[in-house]
Amino acid sequence: MALYIHIPFCNKKCDYCDFVSYPLGTGCMKNYLTALIKEIDLVKQTYSNQTFSTIFIGGGTPSVLFGGFIKQLSQKIFSSFKFCKNVEFTIEVNPSSLTEEKLIEYKSAGINRISLGVQSLDDKVLKSVGRNQTKQDVLNALKLIEKHNFKNVNADVIIGLPNSSKKSVLNTIKFLIPHTTHISAYGLQIEENTPLYKNIKQGKLSPMPEDEIASTFLSVSKTLKNAGFNQYEISNFSRPKFECKHNQKYWNGSYYLGLGIAAHSYFNNKRFCNSSNFNNYLEKINANTLPIETEEVLTKQQQIEEFIMLSLRTQKGLNIAQFNKKFKQNFLQSRKNSIKNLKKLNLIDIKNNNLTIKPSKIYLSNAIILELI
Ligand code: SF4
Repeated sequence: MALYIHIPFCNKKCDYCDFVSYPLGTGCMKNYLTALIKEIDLVKQTYSNQTFSTIFIGGGTPSVLFGGFIKQLSQKIFSSFKFCKNVEFTIEVNPSSLTEEKLIEYKSAGINRISLGVQSLDDKVLKSVGRNQTKQDVLNALKLIEKHNFKNVNADVIIGLPNSSKKSVLNTIKFLIPHTTHISAYGLQIEENTPLYKNIKQGKLSPMPEDEIASTFLSVSKTLKNAGFNQYEISNFSRPKFECKHNQKYWNGSYYLGLGIAAHSYFNNKRFCNSSNFNNYLEKINANTLPIETEEVLTKQQQIEEFIMLSLRTQKGLNIAQFNKKFKQNFLQSRKNSIKNLKKLNLIDIKNNNLTIKPSKIYLSNAIILELI
């Protein structure tokens, strides 16, 4: 299984973000750590027969936590669940809040993978979306990460931010290549109810045009491939053997346990999600009840849709024999016409029992997946 822990605090909310995160407060953080430890105690028996192979502390911004938080949390995790020998243990950090002391703490807590929220190295772009960091912060953070000998480093980059261009995105990527083992390049999502959405609606900002996003994405992919990175999922590139094991668990349909505010879990074909309200989460935990807000048992159709959607995002693609065995259906027969059309349009390949989207057509993946669902 995979273990995810959500840290819902940020120094300042970025204009494009609709993740569950709250402004900082040391009191809040202390209460949250106590609650997480209690939540672990509430769930550990249920997962006592499971072995976890990845841990991911995400947010929010885990690097804004006070010193000692991560160490205490990881001690609790390791003493409560069973883990594989070579567990992949990731923490998400923001360049502006990363310090040497924190990296020392992460190392001693067992963390072996750092995921750095870079997004862009263009200060004008960062400023226009209210991102609380500068290019210099990223350079300082990378220096510290290297000094402390973290060998597995991801950088997140966003394609399509206002005021950015293909050139500025490629400059960011080229700069990051020698410092990283993994790069996630996501397309900008303009979520309603965010300041970015409002600014765009009011004409104060304009995102990168769709066709420029598509061509930037293809150039990013080409640049990273030339540098030895493998595009093992639509938005994810890694050096050989540095694929993110945690994300692969989500994509291959493994079970995962999410702890903390708004964390999602998937276990025994049931998907459930914790409360996204801070007080509600704390109240429930303090009353010794699980803070679960929603719960659904996946129907067979939902499981099929998810299997198709997640596997086709990956380079390996959809394994037809595995699909047929898992869902007792003949994939090729039941989607005969769609497959014929997609092949005619030269959008997919079928080789060795695997159906994949052609790498040059990856930007059409949503439409292709819909056709196959
Ligand atoms: S740092 Fe990340 S989680 Fe926090 S507001 Fe910005 S995008 Fe959202």
